[in-house]
Formats: sequence, C-alpha cells, structure tokens
Amino acid sequence: MHIILLGPPGAGKGTQASFLQREYGLAKLSTGDILRAAVASGSALGVQLKSVMDSGALVQDDLIIDIIRERITHDDCAKGFILDGFPRTIAQAEALDVMLHHAGTTLHHVIELAVDDALLIDRISGRFSCASCGEGYHDHFKPTLVDGVCDVCGSHEFSRRADDKAETVARRLEAYHEQTSPLLPYYRALNMLRTVDGMASMDEVTRAIKTLLSA
Ligand code: AMP
Repeated sequence: MHIILLGPPGAGKGTQASFLQREYGLAKLSTGDILRAAVASGSALGVQLKSVMDSGALVQDDLIIDIIRERITHDDCAKGFILDGFPRTIAQAEALDVMLHHAGTTLHHVIELAVDDALLIDRISGRFSCASCGEGYHDHFKPTLVDGVCDVCGSHEFSRRADDKAETVARRLEAYHEQTSPLLPYYRALNMLRTVDGMASMDEVTRAIKTLLSA
C-alpha cells in the first residue's frame, strides 16, 4: 500500500504516519526527518540544507526526488510506505508518478489533513520530541505522561526543531500555500484525493484515516 499524507506543517502528518507504520507495517518516509538527519551529520550538504530549512523555504526538487527514488528501493518498503512531507510540489508529484510507474506499481491513497492556519501556529509552537527515540509531543495537546520522561523509551532528553520558531512557521505556511497546495487539485483531478478534518482529536483523525483505508 502506497499512501501520501498531505497537509500544512503542524497538521499531524508525522503523528498519523507513525500510527500507520505501526498498524499496517508500512515504512514511514518523512523527507523532513531524512533532511534533519543529513543536517545532524554535519556534512557539507547538511550545512547547505540547514540554511534553507531554517529559512522556512523548500529544498530543491531534484535533491528530494533523488532521495525518495533511492529510499523506496529499501527492503522495509516491500509492504508499502507512507509519504510524510513528500511530494511538496507538482514537479515532485510528477516524478513520484514516474518512479512508481517504473517500479510497476502505483499510488493507492492520497489523504489530506485539513487544518486552519490559525490553529497551526499554536500546534507548531508547542511541539517537541524525544531526543532519543523521536516520539513527538506537544506542550498542551500531548504532554508526556510523567513530566520530563519520554513515554516510549524513558529518556529525559528532548529537543525542539529550529524551524518551529514563529517567524519561520509563517514562511513555511507561505511555502505550503504557494507550492504545495496546488497538489490538492492535482490529486483531485486524478480522483485520488480524500480529505480528513485534521482539527478533530488525534484519535478521531486516526479513525477517519483507517475508515478511508478500509473502503
Ligand atoms: P517537515 O519536517 O516535513 O516540516 O520539513 C521540514 C523542512 O524540510 C521543510 O520546511 C523544507 O525546508 C524541507 N523539506 C521537507 N520535505 C521537503 C520536500 N518534499 N521538498 C522540499 N523541501 C522539503
């Protein structure tokens, strides 16, 4: 099963992708996570990527397309994958169509998590994650069960993303509206787009996605 989760930054794509990964045994391919790992490696490419990402702009298409083209050949993608944060431009969507076609397969579901901009700012500014296992949390919407301790792995170390600052979030939302939202009519025209209310609770969103996948 090949699934795209679409939606603005802070819509909950990462959280829902993690759920789908556990529930259906699919690989979660988050281009943001892959790029942040490249930044953390301290390579020359990582340094370049960091300045683009910290500005809130999108990284160039050819680089991201090459990353995904290679990543989908890994063994963990054999049962399928969930794309979280890719495609983000029409050029990326077209390249994905071609790579799946060459692999003799296709896309199965494109699910949009729809959320108003006003709510996104609140959601993003409270985000943090476990520095050890990567589990995502939120100051108000999903705090740790025990203060300062990761629910999943027990670590006491947490981190916040450099691009979750208010100024950068505004630029990321602008990039979404200008460059990524044209994907909605693109997939609607292919009769693939299904929309879920991303402002509902996390569990309700999960249920809505499961219903779409079983239809
Ligand atoms: P995310 O974690 O998905 O919010 O991505 C964080 C940042 O990584 C974005 O603001 C972009 O700078 C970059 N990025 C992630 N995915 C893509 C993509 N598909 N195309 C271009 N840039 C991307």
